[in-house]
Amino acid sequence: MNCFIYLRKSTEDKSRQVQSINDQKKIMREIAHSRGLKISEIFVDEKSAGKPYQRPAFQKMMERIHSGEALIILSWKIDRLSRNPVENGQISWMLQNNIIQEIITAERSYLPQDNVLLYMVESAMANQFIRDLSANVKRGMKSRVEKGIFPGSAPLGYLNFGNKKEGKTIIPDSHYFPIVKKLWKLLLSEQYTLAEVFRMMQKKHPLYRKGKLLSFSSFHKMFHNPFYCGVFRWAGEKHLGIHEKMITQSEFERVLGFMHQKEKTRRRDLEFEYKGIFKCGFCQAQITAERKTKFIITTQQKKSFDYYRCVHRKRDIDCKEKPLSKKQIESQLATEIERIFLPDEVFDFGIDKLGEQKGRETQLQATTSFNLKREIQTLSQQKNQIENNLVLEVDSEIRLLMKRKYEELKINIQKLRENYESLQEEIANNHFNIIEALKVVKNAKIALKSGTIEQKKRILHHLGSDWKIKSKKIDFKPHFVIDAVLKTKNFIRSKKGLSGPTNPLFTTSKTLDSKEIGFVWYTLWEFIKNSM
Ligand SMILES: [Zn+2]
Repeated sequence: MNCFIYLRKSTEDKSRQVQSINDQKKIMREIAHSRGLKISEIFVDEKSAGKPYQRPAFQKMMERIHSGEALIILSWKIDRLSRNPVENGQISWMLQNNIIQEIITAERSYLPQDNVLLYMVESAMANQFIRDLSANVKRGMKSRVEKGIFPGSAPLGYLNFGNKKEGKTIIPDSHYFPIVKKLWKLLLSEQYTLAEVFRMMQKKHPLYRKGKLLSFSSFHKMFHNPFYCGVFRWAGEKHLGIHEKMITQSEFERVLGFMHQKEKTRRRDLEFEYKGIFKCGFCQAQITAERKTKFIITTQQKKSFDYYRCVHRKRDIDCKEKPLSKKQIESQLATEIERIFLPDEVFDFGIDKLGEQKGRETQLQATTSFNLKREIQTLSQQKNQIENNLVLEVDSEIRLLMKRKYEELKINIQKLRENYESLQEEIANNHFNIIEALKVVKNAKIALKSGTIEQKKRILHHLGSDWKIKSKKIDFKPHFVIDAVLKTKNFIRSKKGLSGPTNPLFTTSKTLDSKEIGFVWYTLWEFIKNSM
């Protein structure tokens, strides 16, 4: 079998002890010999591999591989071969498609069936490494970064503090910190668009930078800066900062997510109560809303009608689902709400009782808690391992990779810890959420008739999830409180005493005595606890 040897002098690491071209050549020749490979040609480039298309020998070699002359490359290290993403991609693709059959380095060999990702990761790291070198990070800055102190100018809400002698750090700006934090919370409530929050800032809490009112583009940029969740970027790398954070990492990701997706559609969704909630039960596509305006002759007035229909966007399915009017949806919802009717006294009694108690953990929360704890443990072990090995590692290139991994683990552990904390908070709030659901159920009938769009959305949110329309019928997966109400009614229906045509659970005309109220509530509470 034929092979090519590719050698490249590395200009960027003159100061280090790197194998000379001749040493590299000698070793690669030996490897070729030991593997029984015939060397077709030895290619040598002088230039760095940091930018694509700058190495004539490398280009020539690639052409000759394509012509099939040799299918195996021998190179000292994977990063000799490429240190830029264009050529990484090229090599990785050729390896995956068997155009290159093997890449042999002094340390290991890469085969087409190998995890190409591994190759991508290693070469991407080489790419990152070269970028870091060109960033020419100053020593003082670097040590600040390692301590978790952002060495640049503090973002809005923070101040640079200290001097060279005593050391510089970043502290919360007592005036702006609470304002910026409040703006984050407003966005996190998902009640407002970025533009709306921007207007609130202008009117109520104006933020100035260098004497000028913050522009929308700077405002927009601010909410893309991970500094606010305790992570900062420096020289292309992420670091966990020691500064006081305003939000958690998950909250930051959530804001990014809906700024990118919902910004355009959110505004218009607000005009339709059921838009973005239903999926087509036939083809699983989205159900969208349309408004039609008609002129009514008898009243001499314009009237608008809302329709909800499948977008029919799945090409492989010939979806026949017909549109439903808002009126049809609401009459079906009214039936669903009727099914979960319980006298107000029962809800009021339960809401009072729950308000006095502490929240209890659900099954799902218990499992999530356990998994989070285990994940934190695993990552912490990995982190400690790297910490120990870092002391022994002498190769500065590997040290750099290890440090990067170490930072990455630190950030991930912090994120998991935050998730764990918010889960504990959620557990403490569990009863609060049930109370919320009970209140919504209690008022659902009225809200459906005369509530605002927001209130109607809230009804659906508390009734259940996975909303579908199939054959003009609405369907959903009931929320566990709703499920418990249904079970309670069935249970009581099957019992004597409270059953029969005059059963007050099924009519609004009769009121229950205190004994009956207690019985119904504790039955309901048992079902809620069991399905939590
Ligand atoms: Zn459909």
